[in-house]
Amino acid sequence: MKAEKKLETNVKNVERIVAPPPKHWVGDGFNVHGFFPHGPLTGERMSPFFLLDYNSLVDFPPREKPFGVGPHPHRGFETVSIAYKGKVAHHDSRGGGGVIGEGDVQWMTAGSGLLHKEYHEGEYNKQGGPFQMVQLWVNLPAKDKMTTPKYQAITNAEMGRVALENGGEVEIIAGEFGGVKGPATTFSPVHLYNLKPKEGEKIELSFPAGYTTAILAIEGSVTLNNSETLPTNQLALFERDGEDIRVEALEDSILLVMSGEPLNEPIAQYGPFLMNTRAEIAEAIDDYNTGKFGYLAD
Ligand code: MN
Repeated sequence: MKAEKKLETNVKNVERIVAPPPKHWVGDGFNVHGFFPHGPLTGERMSPFFLLDYNSLVDFPPREKPFGVGPHPHRGFETVSIAYKGKVAHHDSRGGGGVIGEGDVQWMTAGSGLLHKEYHEGEYNKQGGPFQMVQLWVNLPAKDKMTTPKYQAITNAEMGRVALENGGEVEIIAGEFGGVKGPATTFSPVHLYNLKPKEGEKIELSFPAGYTTAILAIEGSVTLNNSETLPTNQLALFERDGEDIRVEALEDSILLVMSGEPLNEPIAQYGPFLMNTRAEIAEAIDDYNTGKFGYLAD
């Protein structure tokens, strides 16, 4: 009885279950549900996260022309790209580039800024097939917004791993679960996992009170806190209060779990620039127009 009472007093309740918003195209390669910033899920509410674009599972036909999004700038935040199905190639104005393979993550710190382009990888593009991808924007604290751009290419094999009791597992990208750390370094406290329970598996998650916490159901469905159901392709947003979340898998599932300490700093956004003030946005636009982000061919 005592244990149950403790769980109840510390529970992090579901604030809302969000159905996938209508899809829009990013370039011609990414057909995404823009979960946030959208409606009540503002940049302030979701901080330190700012944007979540989810390309739910689709089957692209074989194509010759590479599909994706051409050269564009970023400044003031990080883009975290998670490939669940399919592969994405990227190139940037600093000479960097690479492929995000199936199951892999690219954590890009845009910082002071760069131009990049993101395309379906050549062989995948020619063959076609299943495609499922998440891009999460993680805001940078004011003091780090102009940090030097960098990548963390995190292969699936490099992720932290915790085996669950019924054969499921947790892949830790950033932060910590069950004493195991993820490889990504972050500028503010962030936990990011793929939770992969088998049917019937029960998992207890715990995050500090005050953290912004959400779970996106990539595959399958689960019950949260013994009450709410989270179906495939929907997002659960939790209250800031409370610490403990109980997950019970209704079937074999894949869940993207994100939790982070809010930055509590002013947010000024214009397209691909995410700063603290309008003056910094004006400066970013000026720097872009005068070539300070470098050059990148189509
Ligand atoms: Mn981009």
